[in-house]
Amino acid sequence: MGWLGAVELGGTNLRVAIGDGSNTLHEQARFPLGTDPTSTLRAIARWFDDRREPLDVIGVASFGPLDLERGAIAATPKRAWRRFPLREELAAALGAPVVLDTDVIAAVLAEWTIGAGQGLDDVLYVTVGTGIGVGAVADGRIHRGRRHPEMGHMRVPRRHGDRWPGDCDYHGDCWEGLASGHALAARYGRLAEEIADPAAWQLESEYLALGITNLSCTFRPERIVIGGGVLAHPGLLDAVRAETAELLNVEYFPECASMDAYLVPPALGEDSGLYGALLLARSSSSATEAE
Ligand SMILES: [Zn+2]
Repeated sequence: MGWLGAVELGGTNLRVAIGDGSNTLHEQARFPLGTDPTSTLRAIARWFDDRREPLDVIGVASFGPLDLERGAIAATPKRAWRRFPLREELAAALGAPVVLDTDVIAAVLAEWTIGAGQGLDDVLYVTVGTGIGVGAVADGRIHRGRRHPEMGHMRVPRRHGDRWPGDCDYHGDCWEGLASGHALAARYGRLAEEIADPAAWQLESEYLALGITNLSCTFRPERIVIGGGVLAHPGLLDAVRAETAELLNVEYFPECASMDAYLVPPALGEDSGLYGALLLARSSSSATEAE
């Protein structure tokens, strides 16, 4: 097996890396996601060209939603990226095959394979950043549904008579529309990391716990890995653990007796998606070799 490429396209940044079949990233870089896909792809191609290593396969973990049949980005507020045929264009720019999947499917793949969910058959990965995304491993397999699930857009009940309309472009007060970093900034008029009001974080912990509770009832996972920028707020993870345990009820869900083991931060830190991209490339590369 030769060198593998990894690309993670996030809402504001993109990351690139070269790795190998032993799940090691050798060199990596980060740059801003351009508003124009063509010049962004040119920048990615230039970075890989400068490394002078021919790549067998490139794994790509992208923000979604994606049309995985066409290998294209589907709906997005970023106009120039809407319906952009990412897989085809990137393969042409880099001269190697591209394996494309969503950022959260890549992240759950990485946490399950080499991170906090190793050895388990039922693991979820939740990211609470600009948006909310969830990737699932159920019965020892990545759960894909039709195209891919959109669990960040589930509905959750309102708390404390809250009537703020929510800020999801498509659903208003879905989970992401109430509890994402973007929603926090829209509701309180400042970046999530600048919000100090304890009542704001209490409400946030309750909304996050409602979503985690619904996911727990649906998948009954052995572990939920939760990351993303919003979880960096001190004490939030513990508050979500406590709220979730109360909602699930330890008599009904005995796993709530050890919430520290049930709801955990990502073992790969901010790198789950990038490692996931590498693993996507590796799985495709070994599949090709096995043929
Ligand atoms: Zn939504």
